[in-house]
Amino acid sequence: MQGYVLNITRVRDEDLIVTILGEDHIYRAYRFYGARHSHIHVGFKIDFELEINIKSTIPRLKDVIQLGFPWILDSKKLYHWQLYIKLFYHHLKDVEEIDDFYVELLNDLVERITKQNPKRAILESYVRLCEYEGRLHDDFSCLLCDLPIENEISLVRGFLTTHPVCSYSKSFDIQKIKELFSNKTLIDFNEEEVDYLWRIIMQGL
Ligand SMILES: [Zn+2]
Repeated sequence: MQGYVLNITRVRDEDLIVTILGEDHIYRAYRFYGARHSHIHVGFKIDFELEINIKSTIPRLKDVIQLGFPWILDSKKLYHWQLYIKLFYHHLKDVEEIDDFYVELLNDLVERITKQNPKRAILESYVRLCEYEGRLHDDFSCLLCDLPIENEISLVRGFLTTHPVCSYSKSFDIQKIKELFSNKTLIDFNEEEVDYLWRIIMQGL
């Protein structure tokens, strides 16, 4: 099987509990320490096998092979990717059965990060995630006062929409946010705006 390592928890001395996003399942598996075992890192894609043991409540992770990305040695790209994957883990923490949308979304994001600035690629992918989960507020009403938003708009956590005066937040031209929500592109956003949106998603997905 293949999947993305979403989280690693150290147990006992050197053993690990590894959470892996597979195609239709989120696996939690036990990795016994082995000096010759390859290291496992958050965000990496791995090929693996699970060994079910009737004496244990969780399967054993074995035959792990790390699958590379073209940018695995680019520390800036890897840094942003791992931050995002940690949030992804918290977002999906209690899920077991899952649609293949999520693994496909990450596969696509890996490709995009190859060609693009990592923050831009991740933010655009995040908008697709919100849309898929039905929480993209593209009716453009204000979360706080319920009135329609016409010109200036602010985004808050979860990219929920508000009037700038209602949330005391940074104001954007609504046309740019409409473009982002419908075409999933940040092409009209400058670096400072991208950094601002990045700080919003770092609060949690
Ligand atoms: Zn309002």
